[in-house]
Amino acid sequence: MSAIDNLASELAKLPGIGRKTALRLTYHLLKQSPEQSRRLAEALTSLSERVHPCERCFNLTEGELCSICSDPRRDAALICVVEEASDISAIERAGEFRGLYHVLGGRLSPLDGIGPESLHIEDLLRRVAATEIREVILATNPSLAGEATALYVQRQLASRPVTVTRIARGLPVGGDLEYADGVTIAQALAARRTM
Ligand SMILES: [Zn+2]
Repeated sequence: MSAIDNLASELAKLPGIGRKTALRLTYHLLKQSPEQSRRLAEALTSLSERVHPCERCFNLTEGELCSICSDPRRDAALICVVEEASDISAIERAGEFRGLYHVLGGRLSPLDGIGPESLHIEDLLRRVAATEIREVILATNPSLAGEATALYVQRQLASRPVTVTRIARGLPVGGDLEYADGVTIAQALAARRTM
């Protein structure tokens, strides 16, 4: 495979990038200075080398604990459960939530072979057992799979002395938390209900 085809086919694997855009980007990169290309390559390499999941919440971090887990001003008795680390930035943008997070790493999807053991559910149960948690807010996406995941986690937590809440339905059904605006997210969190 030629160098051009090689890069174009790698770029085409990215979300939202079709074959045509991938080729356009490749030709654009060819026009850049070798120095600029080297910086891009280095940025990509250091991304995969330096960024890894937080030991406690599975948010992305370059240290052992993420910036949220290591912030003493956050309410450690309140955990917001999300599907992906990118959901955290969406909720943080809303600026209302002062607790900690737990990233599941996806949602239950039996047809795709994603069962509870593929997600960080056991880690959540261990966290709830090991630390004083007052409330767990289930902020999985308002999709079928997101609802099924919330229900599953709620059942796992049912016997524990913790309040389990689900974010309100202000979010569009089938929508993605990541793309919701801050006001909608803040309202959905404020109007959460006990499961
Ligand atoms: Zn963390």
